[in-house]
Amino acid sequence: METTLLDRIPLTLDVQELKTILRLRENPRRLERLTEMVAEAQAVARPKAIFRMAPIDAIGEDTVTVAGVAFQSRLVKINLKEVGRVFPFAATCGVELDHWSHGFDSPLEGFWADTIKEQVLLKTMEYLVPHVSETYAAGPVAMMNPGSLPDWPLDQQIPLMGLLGDVEAQTGIRFSPNLMMFPTKSLTGIIFSTDTKYENCMLCTNLDCPRRRAEFDPLLYKEKLGYSG
Ligand code: SF4
Repeated sequence: METTLLDRIPLTLDVQELKTILRLRENPRRLERLTEMVAEAQAVARPKAIFRMAPIDAIGEDTVTVAGVAFQSRLVKINLKEVGRVFPFAATCGVELDHWSHGFDSPLEGFWADTIKEQVLLKTMEYLVPHVSETYAAGPVAMMNPGSLPDWPLDQQIPLMGLLGDVEAQTGIRFSPNLMMFPTKSLTGIIFSTDTKYENCMLCTNLDCPRRRAEFDPLLYKEKLGYSG
């Protein structure tokens, strides 16, 4: 299997952006400390991503077979029924930044470090997704992630990672027996071409989620999952 490892992902962390995310009020000492931490993180971080192109072999009744690996999910089947190939991936903020983040005794600084890691993962995805689309001339793309929605549960990480080979050796991402990922600021999924906007959040009934990126869409919920919202 031919995979591509991205281990020199350009990264620019923005103190002002983090200040807004952390809702830091004007406090020169705190801002100075955050600025120091961001500079440290910027120097340490080595985010990584691995991906490949994989053909869709067969679409069945709520199953999709990708490069010989079967996935059980109505949602995956519906999202992929009109594409001939997909791009499985794993991405992480990187073990280097994760180790750095464990060196803070102060709970506040530990929280800031966690938020910085989250931003690094976000920027890694902002690099990865267009890179995949441009490399394979895939046009507009969206992604699905195992564990984001009940219809494609976390245990589907196992067949998904089977498509990428030795993910731990390449990226440092480890999986616990209950399929938690370490570093925790890591993400796996499938990128796929689509002409219509798709976000997991559009089908997620966790209406109070503070990380929601798109409104819940009851019509799409019915179309993709066969339920009434
Ligand atoms: S609404 Fe929140 S929990 Fe639901 S898919 Fe989006 S980010 Fe995840």
